Amino acid sequence: MAARKDARRIASEATREAVSNRILLIEDSPAMTMLLRQRMEEETGAEVICCDSHAAARACLENEQFTLALTGLNLPDSPRGEILALLGDFGVPTIVFTAMFDPEARERYAQKKIIDYIVKDGPRTVETVLHTVARILSNSAFTILVVDDARSARSGLVEILKRQNFRVLEAHSGTQALEIIEAEDKIELVVTDYHMPDMDGYELTRRIRETRSSEEMRIVGVSSSTDRWLSASFLKAGACDFIYRPFVPEELQCRIDNNIETLKQIQRLRYLADRDYLTGLSNRRCFFEKTRHMEATRTPEHCSSVAILDIDHFKKINDTYGHEAGDRVLKMVADALAETCAPAKHFAARLGGEEFALYLRNTDAFQAHSFCEKVRQQIEELVMEVNNHEIAVTVSIGVVETETGESFDNNLNAADQLLYLAKSSGRNRVYSTLTLPEAMTAANASAVAELF
Ligand code: GH3
Ligand code: MG
Ligand code: MG
Repeated sequence: MAARKDARRIASEATREAVSNRILLIEDSPAMTMLLRQRMEEETGAEVICCDSHAAARACLENEQFTLALTGLNLPDSPRGEILALLGDFGVPTIVFTAMFDPEARERYAQKKIIDYIVKDGPRTVETVLHTVARILSNSAFTILVVDDARSARSGLVEILKRQNFRVLEAHSGTQALEIIEAEDKIELVVTDYHMPDMDGYELTRRIRETRSSEEMRIVGVSSSTDRWLSASFLKAGACDFIYRPFVPEELQCRIDNNIETLKQIQRLRYLADRDYLTGLSNRRCFFEKTRHMEATRTPEHCSSVAILDIDHFKKINDTYGHEAGDRVLKMVADALAETCAPAKHFAARLGGEEFALYLRNTDAFQAHSFCEKVRQQIEELVMEVNNHEIAVTVSIGVVETETGESFDNNLNAADQLLYLAKSSGRNRVYSTLTLPEAMTAANASAVAELF
């Protein structure tokens, strides 16, 4: 229990507030300064403050805080790279760009704790600088858990990763690592030692993989073992990479970057696959995948409801004002749904055309009916201007509380039947099992009967 609390404390202590990024650019060539400043501001959204000398940089550092510095090595008043010592004194993570590069320089940078260095070697230099800066800034959104029973080895890894601007958590055992992973929402990468007293890195990897796939969490093994089979065993257990100690910090950094890059690409592809392009809401496939899972894992004491919503006489809007205006209406309705659903963590999606679905968490039939009524009223009040015309729309909604033991598709089908009743009873209304007696007209009798 105490260990669990400890895990939560570690997790919450590491939570950082979002800060806006400020970059100190130290370069004596006006042309290079102008180009880098403009591109960095445009492409990273960071504020860039420029200095052309060691003295000017000192004045800036004394007065302001910086997320990172980007510096040339030889300035008129700092001919032998003295600028690095100055940035080191102020503890600003630094990227160096330099015309010269040799093994000796690499050694020097490693000692001075430079985040990265870029060789000015041609037309790709500016792109490389921008890519590196963007990578370092975006690293703060990623959390890495370092697992090692040996404090000094752990600290070494933590220092390298923190310098790269990652959010870093530490665990001194496999058990503590599993507790932190359970307590934390979001850990993207685990770096784990092999030899640990309570459970080895191989076992830890296997245990993590029981609940987290490599698409959600990357695992990198590290060991000073001389057993050459270890890397294969780690990879077979589900690790994504392995590094033998002693390693060159730059190698670790590159391997971590590659793994984070892979994760970003997976996230991007998943985002695109789940999204409805026009409205930005989740799409039909994503709705079915997520809600089927949520329903399958829902316990009977937690109720939920599902609603289908359809814009009334939408075809008329297209016919009267054009397809583009129709698209704007769809976007307007989608935005309203997203905004209304967000506080309660309800889930809205576009099923197709002018039809949307809502999955309402922890919501019974009464609450679901009144929530949908609120949605209906909000949409009724929206007004969109097109060519000096004001367009307003209404929606019809069918909603049911999901029945435990019933398939999700059948629940959705019941909501669809109620939507049909809402349409045939005059539109701009919410129909649920609570309003069924009202719906029981001769014309609707067969549709109502189908619900039972
Ligand atoms: P009801 O009240 O019965 O729902 O009538 P309705 O006109 O809303 O429904 P109907 O199914 O007759 O017409 C839906 C229209 O939605 C037809 C289709 O061209 C249009 N539509 C479907 N997808 C899109 C889209 O992405 N953009 C636009 N602008 N129109 C779309
Ligand atoms: Mg160990
Ligand atoms: Mg419609």
